[in-house]
Amino acid sequence: MNERAILTPAGADPTGTDRARTGTIRSEPIRTDMVIVGAGPVGLFAVFEAGLLNMRCHLIDNLDRPGGQCAELYPDKPIYDIPAVPHCTGQELTDLLMKQIAPFEPTFHLSQQAERLERLEGRWRVTTSIGQVLEAPAIVIAAGAGSFVPRRLPLPGAEAREGRSIHYVVRRMEDFRDKDLLIAGGGDSALDWTLNLHPLAARLALVHRRDDFRAAPDSVMRMRDLVGAGHMALHIGQITELHGVAPELEAVTVKSPKGEVLVPCDTLLAFYGLKMELGPLAEWGLNLDRNLIEVDTATFETNQSGLFAIGDIITYPGKLKLILSGFHEAALMVQKAFRYCFPDQKLVFRYTTSSTDLHEKLGVA
Ligand SMILES: Cc1cc2nc3c(=O)[nH]c(=O)nc-3n(C[C@H](O)[C@H](O)[C@H](O)COP(=O)(O)OP(=O)(O)OC[C@H]3O[C@@H](n4cnc5c(N)ncnc54)[C@H](O)[C@@H]3O)c2cc1C
Repeated sequence: MNERAILTPAGADPTGTDRARTGTIRSEPIRTDMVIVGAGPVGLFAVFEAGLLNMRCHLIDNLDRPGGQCAELYPDKPIYDIPAVPHCTGQELTDLLMKQIAPFEPTFHLSQQAERLERLEGRWRVTTSIGQVLEAPAIVIAAGAGSFVPRRLPLPGAEAREGRSIHYVVRRMEDFRDKDLLIAGGGDSALDWTLNLHPLAARLALVHRRDDFRAAPDSVMRMRDLVGAGHMALHIGQITELHGVAPELEAVTVKSPKGEVLVPCDTLLAFYGLKMELGPLAEWGLNLDRNLIEVDTATFETNQSGLFAIGDIITYPGKLKLILSGFHEAALMVQKAFRYCFPDQKLVFRYTTSSTDLHEKLGVA
């Protein structure tokens, strides 16, 4: 088996247990009961509901950590409408969900997009952007508002250099060793990677459009100390031109009200934030209504059997884009998904309070 470990995501296991595992890339297809596209709150809760019915889950997410919008867009903002939780932040909700699903040992395939979907005999096959193949009788699309993808440099020649001399994500720090590195951006990602890659790079500079940073004050102070000590350069302005023969990069032009400077670099790492887009799901043969997936509200099955959708990505009369609506949809969805996973078994409805079988699954027996 040709296995390559991928990113260990910060926050993939905030519960402190070792049960929620990050996936590895395997050369042969991974066979499981349910593949969930999207590790937002609704995808995470689907693991719990599926687990109660003995279905094992693998999750795929473009982000490098679970939590979807809650973790990415409002980790520190309080949520007040989760039943029986008077308030918790987006990150706290994610952490609680991770703790709740830990007994079911889901496997996470992070920093990769679910790209291709094929129907096989009795099951579906999903292939991710880094080539991981997963097969399951039930696929659940919990893709929210779509994949979080990086905002790219809107400059001629940027696309031809992507993955070679221009990057929007750090998959392996070693890729930046001995590089003449320019990091662009003023948020936490830009500042964190400036501080982390500074010891590895041959030379490092940071470019941001204004001399005011949105990152943690401590990171900004440490960056300014490095600049003050002459260990790195800081350029204030916008990158307006790329130089060198693509896919190579030799320098960029940085423009500010004071004029233009040529900044030599062979590698550019840009952190201009994330945007959301439906991406490859648009090609999966689903009935869509304005980029939202139509479902049967009794089962949350799409127009294709064995292919389910829940959470913000779906539409039906009266749909509310709320976390609690997604939780309800997950609970109903697994009832039908069970039939694809275990066609010969009868589904018995049980309460978590009184079923010793469920207590054993949850590790509380
Ligand atoms: C600022 C803000 C405040 C909010 N406050 C509240 C609130 O108080 N209460 C409330 O109930 N709701 C609130 N919401 C809405 C709530 O966050 C959403 O309803 C919820 O996140 C939807 O969950 P989800 O799991 O369906 O999707 P998301 O949270 O959007 O997660 C979907 C995940 O799928 C991934 N994905 C998509 N496509 C792919 C693909 N092809 N391959 C791999 N990964 C993919 C994305 O990267 C993402 O991580 C708020 C939203 C915002 C922005």
